[in-house]
Amino acid sequence: MAFTLPPLPYPADALEPHIDKMTMEIHHDRHHKAYVDNLNKALESASDLQNKSIEDILRGIKSVPANIQTVVRNNGGGHANHTLFWEIMGPKAGGAPSGDLAQAINSSFGGFDQFKAKIKENALGQFGSGWSWLVIGGDGKLQAVKTANQDSPYMDGQTPILGIDVWEHAYYLKYQNKRPDYVDAWWNVVNWNAVAQRFAKGKK
Ligand code: MN
Repeated sequence: MAFTLPPLPYPADALEPHIDKMTMEIHHDRHHKAYVDNLNKALESASDLQNKSIEDILRGIKSVPANIQTVVRNNGGGHANHTLFWEIMGPKAGGAPSGDLAQAINSSFGGFDQFKAKIKENALGQFGSGWSWLVIGGDGKLQAVKTANQDSPYMDGQTPILGIDVWEHAYYLKYQNKRPDYVDAWWNVVNWNAVAQRFAKGKK
């Protein structure tokens, strides 16, 4: 099939105590797997899309056949969003970015603390399920945006380089209704090297 579930780049318990092992296992092995399976099933009737990257499919979501567009939007978005999410987290992570990325964050947000506050504001302001993102906008500048459900910034012509999943399945076992506590803890697992690589690649 066209798309496969990527393995977690670290053990499921590697992000403890900030994100617990059971949440990681259910989130990756069941939720992400379901997005991949449902995407592949939808694309069975659209062979021309099977050889495209998921990013290209999402950028062109409006040209996906109407009978599968919503399924591809939800599950293709889910696949791309979670693939990014696992990659930009890691053990022994956290801290702050450096180099070009740090400079761009300072330039767009006025400082690292202001940037984190904006990501948190969007994470808490997303009613129901969705994501809070740092993206490279169409103008090449960094922006903080949020999306509902599994919508992807690629659908809006943006390139996501960091994102926090604020669906309840991402935090409810450990944090219950306390989304703010989850967001605060999440900064401890951000792999800034991975974010910087996405930034360097996305700028081109
Ligand atoms: Mn999720």
